Amino acid sequence: MIHASDVRKSYGSYEVLKGVNVSVPNGSVACIIGPSGSGKSTFLRCINHLEDINSGLLLVDGDFVGYRLKDDRLHELRASQICARRAEIGMVFQHFNLFPHMTVLENLMEAPVRVRGEKRAEARQHALELLRRVGLAEKASAYPRQLSGGQQQRVAIARALAMRPKVLLFDEPTSALDPELVGEVLSVMKDLARDGMTMVVVTHEIGFAREVADQLIFMDGGTVMEQGDPREMIANPKSPRTREFLAKVL
Ligand code: ATP
Ligand code: MG
Repeated sequence: MIHASDVRKSYGSYEVLKGVNVSVPNGSVACIIGPSGSGKSTFLRCINHLEDINSGLLLVDGDFVGYRLKDDRLHELRASQICARRAEIGMVFQHFNLFPHMTVLENLMEAPVRVRGEKRAEARQHALELLRRVGLAEKASAYPRQLSGGQQQRVAIARALAMRPKVLLFDEPTSALDPELVGEVLSVMKDLARDGMTMVVVTHEIGFAREVADQLIFMDGGTVMEQGDPREMIANPKSPRTREFLAKVL
């Protein structure tokens, strides 16, 4: 489970996250929507410890991520602890960021072997299993440039899964794709959700949010403006800002 409580994050004097409170129970899916610059990516990056937080509490599966406030002092995690935590959190970006000089199979085996110390044979077996799961078993020896955008993004998801993460974070995973390739990526994500993966998905795919998400979170200006049941919120947004935003993306 992911638990964020009053998370604040500033760049210099500019406060990007102004006290974010979010709870994502194990096995559930949260979708985050909101206008550009509202802090969605920053929040994901804090969960994954790509950014430190200035104050507040951020827990993944009960473990502290980043800094925590205790006795009014900031406690810093050691670099090795940060690495271990980050390895448990998978992240999928808008631009797939596959290693271009490696085959699909090598892309999936790299981190498990190097970071988790898995044996090559074990990593290979798991990688092939994951490729089957995302429907790309026949592409194991292809290079990323030989794949469509949708296929590359499915490989990126399989690569994140190869680390056996506790949670998966997605930052606009379909926004760089041609419209006809969006469906195949969302379908893989839907399968993961059905299999009980804990996921936080920044997306403007409202249909996906309505169908798959357990909660919908609307961020605006560095705070959570509204959150709740996706169907209810989409049909009946409480805040005028949410209503205005949904009207644009629906
Ligand atoms: P988008 O929908 O465009 O992806 P977002 O909600 O993901 O937007 P963020 O990328 O989290 O927004 O950015 C929130 C704010 O923080 C923006 O005003 C951005 O300019 C600022 N920001 C993000 N990263 C940095 C950084 N490394 N240094 C300074 N400011 C930053
Ligand atoms: Mg963003």
